[in-house]
Amino acid sequence: MIEYGLWTKSDGGFVETQMYSKEEAERRLAHYVEMDAENEDDLSIVQLCPEHGYLDQPKDGCEMCAADEED
Ligand SMILES: [Zn+2]
Repeated sequence: MIEYGLWTKSDGGFVETQMYSKEEAERRLAHYVEMDAENEDDLSIVQLCPEHGYLDQPKDGCEMCAADEED
């Protein structure tokens, strides 16, 4: 199952995860933008790492996968 989260550029982390469809993620993103228009530039929908999503790691740039590759 593909998991999505909302990634904040300014903090370099997820504000919310555990969304399992792009549509659901887009709905949540729209909700954040409604609360604060600045979120539109800051937040983006990012897929979580299939192995390390539970550690809030993004699929691209997962620190755990990067550490594995160094071994
Ligand atoms: Zn990973």
